[in-house]
Amino acid sequence: MTDKADITIIGAGVVGLGVASEVARPGREVYVLEKNESFGREQSTRNSEVIHAGIYYDRDSLRARLCVEGNNLLYELCERTGIGYKKCGKIIVAVSDIEAEELAKLYQRGCDNGAPLKMLSRQEMSELEPNMTGLAAFLSPTTGIIDAYGLVRYFEAQARGKGVQIAYKAEVTGIDKASDGYRIATGSGDSFISRVVINCAGLYSDHVAALAGINIEQAGYKLHWCKGEYYNVGGGKNRLISRLIYPVPMAISVGVHVCFDVSWRLRLGPLFYYVDKLDYGMNDANKGLFLTSSMMKALPFLAPEDLEPESAGIMAMLQGPGEGFRDFVIRHEADRGLPGLINLIGIESPGLTASPAIARYVSQMVDEVV
Ligand SMILES: Cc1cc2nc3c(=O)[nH]c(=O)nc-3n(C[C@H](O)[C@H](O)[C@H](O)COP(=O)(O)OP(=O)(O)OC[C@H]3O[C@@H](n4cnc5c(N)ncnc54)[C@H](O)[C@@H]3O)c2cc1C
Repeated sequence: MTDKADITIIGAGVVGLGVASEVARPGREVYVLEKNESFGREQSTRNSEVIHAGIYYDRDSLRARLCVEGNNLLYELCERTGIGYKKCGKIIVAVSDIEAEELAKLYQRGCDNGAPLKMLSRQEMSELEPNMTGLAAFLSPTTGIIDAYGLVRYFEAQARGKGVQIAYKAEVTGIDKASDGYRIATGSGDSFISRVVINCAGLYSDHVAALAGINIEQAGYKLHWCKGEYYNVGGGKNRLISRLIYPVPMAISVGVHVCFDVSWRLRLGPLFYYVDKLDYGMNDANKGLFLTSSMMKALPFLAPEDLEPESAGIMAMLQGPGEGFRDFVIRHEADRGLPGLINLIGIESPGLTASPAIARYVSQMVDEVV
């Protein structure tokens, strides 16, 4: 390991590696430190793999802006590099009068955020998705899916190709202010000085901010972990829809939806609930909640026996139980007496979609610092 770096990025998820590939320049010593044995082992590959259009988020928030920008960038990137994707579109469908009222508000919010959307007539609904039923719906033609693992692997290869050094099994355990940057210590006992430190530690990014001396409660950086469980849809029904089908969100997330991956594996989920532990096991008791979700009404061909427990992901959320919308924190902490420290905290959904736009945004911040 080095004794001096220009830029150190903590975390080799889609965000950390996206940032690494963007900030790397000739003459810059850039390091990525990752506690796991390889890249993308946490949120970045345990998700719905949806390229979101920017519908759900408060107007002018970073989540809205970086999602819309990231959506365009991801399609360009996939087209150029061969990363697997499908620009399949998505339909958000209401199955009750209350949901129909919320659907109209959501449609307006999405339009305000710059997402191209189209309200559908009943006839258009049945022409586009003959196996779907509902009271009202709109189409998001720019929503799609991406091979998330392929994207993280691409960013890793790009970063390495530009000379970034990536160390696995290197957990950051200390960040101490020094005269010329920060002394970064890892679990193996090594340490070095880095002029700029970029915290992309996902589920642990609040903990990493605390290592640098930030009071995370006061700063509003405390994370809540939210687990999302998925069920596989068997029974040969994976071609009965052509687009992603989403409910009207009524709780903490976009709601249990029907998605597929680039090989048409159909999944129902995620069913989100807050947890304290990093445990990816499935709780069979939750199957009943899947069976009462709006998707079972919207897609009557789904039968209970088609659903088999599949996998789970855990998301780093700033929004605690019962709390309202929280934006991404992407912040240079100079005004906290920590110049050169950039924190990325609460990069929950749509973080996968936004990753190339986040990388550009952070790179501009870095250019102002170094
Ligand atoms: C169930 C679920 C569904 C989702 N669906 C979508 C979707 O469809 N579309 C979308 O756009 N987004 C979605 N998201 C959100 C998206 O997955 C995340 O926003 C994105 O993956 C965040 O990436 P990241 O790199 O910040 O975090 P991570 O992938 O968690 O990477 C952080 C890395 O930091 C490392 N790390 C942590 N602490 C340390 C330390 N002390 N030292 C060294 N390394 C450390 C971790 O090991 C990890 O590898 C979903 C998330 C979940 C959980």
